[in-house]
Amino acid sequence: MKMSNLYMPTLREVPAEAELPSHKLLLRAGMIRKLVSGVYSYLPLGYRVVRKVEKICREEMDAAGSQEFLLSAIQPKELWEASGRWQDFGPEMFKLVDRNEREFCLGPTHEEYFTSVIKDEVNSYKQLPLNIYQIQTKYRDEKRPRFGLMRGREFIMKDAYSFDVDEEALKKAYQIMWDAYDKIFTRLHLTYKIVQGDTGAMGGKVSHEFMAMSDVGEGVIAYCDNCDYAATDEKAEVVYIVDDADSDLLEMEKVYTPNIKTIEDLNEYLSMEKSRFGKALVYNSAGKPVVVIIPADRELNEVKLLNYLKVGEHELEFADEEIIREITGADKGFTGPVGLSKDARLLIDSRITKMKNIVVGGNETDYHIKNANYGRDFEGEIVDDLLLVAEGDICPKCGELLKIDRGIEVGNIFQLGTKYSESIGAKFLDENGKEKPFVMGSYGVGVTRSVAAVVEQYHDEDGIIWPLVIAPYHVIITVVNTKNEDQMELGEKLYKELISLGYEVLLDDRNERAGVKFKDSDLIGIPIRVTVGKLAGENTVEYSLRTSKDKTEVNADTVKDLVLDEFIKAGLLR
Ligand code: ATP
Ligand code: MG
Repeated sequence: MKMSNLYMPTLREVPAEAELPSHKLLLRAGMIRKLVSGVYSYLPLGYRVVRKVEKICREEMDAAGSQEFLLSAIQPKELWEASGRWQDFGPEMFKLVDRNEREFCLGPTHEEYFTSVIKDEVNSYKQLPLNIYQIQTKYRDEKRPRFGLMRGREFIMKDAYSFDVDEEALKKAYQIMWDAYDKIFTRLHLTYKIVQGDTGAMGGKVSHEFMAMSDVGEGVIAYCDNCDYAATDEKAEVVYIVDDADSDLLEMEKVYTPNIKTIEDLNEYLSMEKSRFGKALVYNSAGKPVVVIIPADRELNEVKLLNYLKVGEHELEFADEEIIREITGADKGFTGPVGLSKDARLLIDSRITKMKNIVVGGNETDYHIKNANYGRDFEGEIVDDLLLVAEGDICPKCGELLKIDRGIEVGNIFQLGTKYSESIGAKFLDENGKEKPFVMGSYGVGVTRSVAAVVEQYHDEDGIIWPLVIAPYHVIITVVNTKNEDQMELGEKLYKELISLGYEVLLDDRNERAGVKFKDSDLIGIPIRVTVGKLAGENTVEYSLRTSKDKTEVNADTVKDLVLDEFIKAGLLR
């Protein structure tokens, strides 16, 4: 491609709306443009990268025995009502109505739809195992669309679904997808960790997330270097040791705590460790008040709470002052488990039941209670673990110290079980002629999010540094002075030669200052660079890589060999 014809509107200024490097650089490099919040257009250079990521997904899925479909983005409401997810997805689903008042959604995912597609045509164990996939546009009306391609409201996903005779066969299918994902993210050159995930609204018991490591990732993971334990913060089990067994139960005591409404204030006012307090959080869960008591030195894990309550994210919010007053008779900041109104559900983290003589809110404005004890002074629904993992926690598997890091979730695999096949009535006859629901798995790769993740891991202050495998073009030939005949001639010659050898090449033949061209070249991140300048008459050019500041003068005839070397080094043997 000659850059004099290339649609590549690069920007010198950093767009005000962008915070993350990937968002800024993809905009600045003229690879994407925003239409509305969370909805992007892919321009030629950006779309080439997207297509290369899709190609890698396609190759690895095909190699793993999966077969490619393409389903519609439009899905009828009835399908989602059958699984119960029309309600569960809530406001995240884009909904629409046709001229006959029939309701539809723009698919946020395709479990129901794929299940319904195969339902009438796959009906014997002989047709299993089956694994099918598509690469398709998904729609989710995210609460906080942000960071460009990272969290869009429209994005491209590779989604796959497996259908098996039983749990054991599902486990095999799951492992095959695990391995395929390993290959996909390795080929994308991402540094990533595979961690246990929460299955939440998706159903099923086992899931893993592929996390591209990045300080700006929205995902938090806890992992252990001593053993192989790794989980998202949503899932990570918290080991919180309470050492109160030998303490005697003391008399309960009301203490005057005027205007002391936060744990910090209480900590100072009573000069007691935060771990001696029971912190109360008051929620409105699907219209009902719920009070949760946890050790005050810890944070609540909302995903664990959602799973326990079996409600969707959109159905849970902090209770307002009015509700708090109704169930406690006090202002916000004085809620506790002792003498709480029976109108509220009281959930108690199991650690609280082991703690002795704790300080809790008094359910009376300006009062707390000292020496409250579970069993004697209050009771409630005991929940095993409602805590969010934190720095300093120990590994639930081996007891060593856990590490906490951030990542970008680029892929997700789920053992779903029979939630969708049962609700949609997708069954097969087993070897004994018995009717059974398919045992399913589902597997997603965020194609466009992966593009952003690669940029997060591969950039510098000047621009993107694409790994060769997904770079929009392999080589950029910059002609320093396009008015110089020797330079243009040699540039064109090299351009034609490399193209004839199958490389993807940009020729910067624009009538621009050299500085502008070099800046653009850095910004768009083409891996291999050839500069044709003053020494063109002597058949000499400058050769360099985007990954390094080193430049070498080489004979133009050797360029093709140097390029080949890069392909060999990158494992892209041709
Ligand atoms: P998240 O926790 O980030 O919202 P998710 O669990 O909702 O992700 P899945 O439903 O498992 O995501 O979707 C499969 C993959 O699609 C994810 O692993 C991610 O890479 C990608 N993905 C999900 N939501 C978005 C989005 N809003 N924008 C871009 N990619 C997304
Ligand atoms: Mg999501």
